[in-house]
Amino acid sequence: MSDHSPESPSFHSVETLLTHAGRTPDDQFGFVNTPVYRGSTVLFKTLADLEAQAQPYLYGRAGNPTTASVESVVNALEGGFRTKLVPSGLAAITIALMSCLKAGDDVLITDSAYEPGRKFADGFLERMGVSVRYYDPRIGSGLREVMLPNTRAVLAESPGSLTFEIQDIPALAAAAHEGGARLIVDNSWASPLYHKPLALGADLVVHAGTKMFVGHSDAFAGTISATEAAWADVERVRTLLGFFTSGDDAYLVARGLRTLAIRMQEHQHRALEIARWLEQQDEVTAVLHPALPSHPDHELWKRDFTGSGSLFGFVLKPAPRAAVAAFVDHLQLFTMGYSWGGYESLCLPVTISKARTVVPWSETGNLFRLHIGLEGVDDLKSDLQAALDRYARSR
Ligand SMILES: *Cc1c(COP(=O)(O)O)cnc(C)c1O
Repeated sequence: MSDHSPESPSFHSVETLLTHAGRTPDDQFGFVNTPVYRGSTVLFKTLADLEAQAQPYLYGRAGNPTTASVESVVNALEGGFRTKLVPSGLAAITIALMSCLKAGDDVLITDSAYEPGRKFADGFLERMGVSVRYYDPRIGSGLREVMLPNTRAVLAESPGSLTFEIQDIPALAAAAHEGGARLIVDNSWASPLYHKPLALGADLVVHAGTKMFVGHSDAFAGTISATEAAWADVERVRTLLGFFTSGDDAYLVARGLRTLAIRMQEHQHRALEIARWLEQQDEVTAVLHPALPSHPDHELWKRDFTGSGSLFGFVLKPAPRAAVAAFVDHLQLFTMGYSWGGYESLCLPVTISKARTVVPWSETGNLFRLHIGLEGVDDLKSDLQAALDRYARSR
């Protein structure tokens, strides 16, 4: 929550929170939504005001009522001490990492991490004198054994991007803390509705708000929620680096959040139905969805999550590249594209080999990632059925 946003009353259900949190109609002439605030300069009336620095806002780069409104909602959802809105999910990851690290430190990153986060660590943190190492996403409490005396940050992402391993957050948090490191969790997949890493021991939670929060593929945003102990470092790094999110983008996040619960439910049900259906198809050798009993981490998912997201993977029998093209090139509803979380379904063929350095990817078939949107499930199944038929014929 921003320092200046109103305290949210305690809400019993997440749906009520999403509907009412972060709104201050009395301050907005009765209008329901906090409008888009655009502004760099904030005016002071007197020298005393200037010197007191006590106004809620001093300069637009630190935020405005629109960004504060979003921060208070996400903070209430995550149960953080404070939450900050930043320009993208990647910025949330980079700021969170930098808030824990300085030259001479060591960072451990899950081998299943979102790839641009890896690239930041390898291409930037290394240059700044941080040693960057990767760990098996299923390492659990074994993390303690691979930590070094100078390990100060551990990055987790559960489930993993593209491969959907569920991580044992309580075990990772305990090991990280024992070794003097902070645990950062990328919680974009489940959203704070279905997974609450801070309550499980994490110090920082990051979101690609671009995905489920915005929900309409039309804006970029990231959030960082932190415990009280971790907060000051986050705000210091963000302030020093000059990251700012515009009121226009914040408004789109605020609008998306109002319907997050019902969208998540619809995405979840459709994705599960399609995942179960894919499991029965001849061409499919594996479905990577943690809510399926066939998933190797299903028990962990049941323990720590209360729902599942829109995104999952599946593997098709080995076949040449032409079969992959036959699958994706003539899809009618699914389209190819990066990102996810919008109302439209996406299908992305993915290659893992280069993105893993600790646990080699062992599947020999072709891996695809689906984001299940809000279309009719039967229409989506027909589209996939036709694609599976094309794949089978060209294999
Ligand atoms: C997309 C994504 C990000 C990055 O978000 P951007 O807003 O695109 O920078 C981070 N983590 C995960 C898991 C993502 O899917």
